[in-house]
Amino acid sequence: MEHESKQILTAWGIPTTRVELARDAAEAIKAARELKYPVVMKISSPNIIHKSDAGGVKVGLSSELEVHQAFKEIMDNARAYKPNAKILGVTIQEYVSHAREVIVGTLQDPTFGATVMFGLGGVWVEALKDVSFRLAPLTADDAREMISEIKGYPILAGIRGEPAADIDAIVDILQKAGQLAHEFPEIVEMDINPIFVFDRGKGAIAIDARIILKEEK
Ligand code: ADP
Ligand code: MG
Repeated sequence: MEHESKQILTAWGIPTTRVELARDAAEAIKAARELKYPVVMKISSPNIIHKSDAGGVKVGLSSELEVHQAFKEIMDNARAYKPNAKILGVTIQEYVSHAREVIVGTLQDPTFGATVMFGLGGVWVEALKDVSFRLAPLTADDAREMISEIKGYPILAGIRGEPAADIDAIVDILQKAGQLAHEFPEIVEMDINPIFVFDRGKGAIAIDARIILKEEK
């Protein structure tokens, strides 16, 4: 699940949002106070993969009242969406202002082993299947090639005077994700979607993550 997956990414040096799990509204408010407003709240259930589809994501909450209401709404939405789902609670995390979105994934190819995938986030990956693949582990040059060979690359390089995105930060995440999947073949699949990428020099951060281990499949 997201908060556990993010703990693994953080331990491996991939920047992620701070996340706390709350089992009730009071815990949610306490977590929001620690993380500082505004915060984002998301359903935490092993049986709900696409949290937004379940009405399970609320972004930019900026007061105790909003956090209190969001907790109840998210829990109600999730129960209505999947009545038998095991629900652990709601995660509270820092809000990150919008940036260009990319996705990084890994899979274990039965013949070639750990493989890394890269693409632009959101509609680009779903509608255009504009992604690139490489075997892990990746050199920095491999990672740079993966980034520059997608059709949407100009969106990252900067169009018409727009500043370039922080491509070095993406290179670092691609290499680290590849290393992780290479060293731990029990990581059957990893999906970091989206990663928000800021302008050059300003970094990138994993906003959502899902790591699937062998025994879970
Ligand atoms: P899903 O399970 O539906 O993929 P996500 O965690 O990816 O849920 O959240 C859905 C969308 O909400 C993201 O694509 C992103 O645009 C926005 N979002 C999620 N978390 C944050 C955050 N911490 N800060 C800002 N926006 C966020
Ligand atoms: Mg997501």
